[in-house]
Amino acid sequence: MLIKGLTMEEFERGLEKTRTLVVPFGTVEAHGVHLPLGTDTLIIQEVVRRVSERTTVFVAPPVHYGQCTSTAQHPGTISISAETLRRIITDIVRDGFRKGLRRFVLVSGHGGGIHTSAMREAAELLTEELKGVVIAAFAIYDILPPEAMDLADTKNDSHAGELETSLILSLSEELVKGRGREEYPDLPKPIVAADKRRYWPGAVWGNPAKASKSKGDRLFDIMEKSLLDLVRRIEEFGG
Ligand SMILES: [Zn+2]
Repeated sequence: MLIKGLTMEEFERGLEKTRTLVVPFGTVEAHGVHLPLGTDTLIIQEVVRRVSERTTVFVAPPVHYGQCTSTAQHPGTISISAETLRRIITDIVRDGFRKGLRRFVLVSGHGGGIHTSAMREAAELLTEELKGVVIAAFAIYDILPPEAMDLADTKNDSHAGELETSLILSLSEELVKGRGREEYPDLPKPIVAADKRRYWPGAVWGNPAKASKSKGDRLFDIMEKSLLDLVRRIEEFGG
């Protein structure tokens, strides 16, 4: 049930069937020269849409902004702080809890380290605060089986690379504007680079040339199944 289309009465009746809310998280983030800034949001919205057709849970509209670190200086990235992200999560879960929801699946299409730790930290604090709440907070890539990554011919494929490009091709070939160059970030870790574009000019991590619509189709199927399994698990989870 996509809650943006429900009336208040439909929401109330829905609570008799489920107490679970799935909230997708995306970003506005540079994804090479070939993918849209909303790539992470587009991908996760599609996965939760499919899951909402397979099981009776509430699905919230996406949080379109996320915390971006390595792409922070690339054109088009509009990042929020980890603190803002924690507060958004805290507000959504607290108010959802007041409205009768008890299980929250906070699933991100963006796998950034600071972003996902902020999600997990908020979930830990809320679990201490709200009696009877059950929360899962993670990036979709964290719950995929190993065969998902085997779909890529490129080793070490990630941001705007073979698989993300394949997923966007699967959504619509018109969203993909050519292909960015094969690239891997060369950030001087653990030193924090002030000029990140110098070490990662193209904002690609992997080889977009190896992307195909059929790989994207298969990966969406795996993502759908993985998220569906998790939603079913959390619905049965005793706390
Ligand atoms: Zn992405």
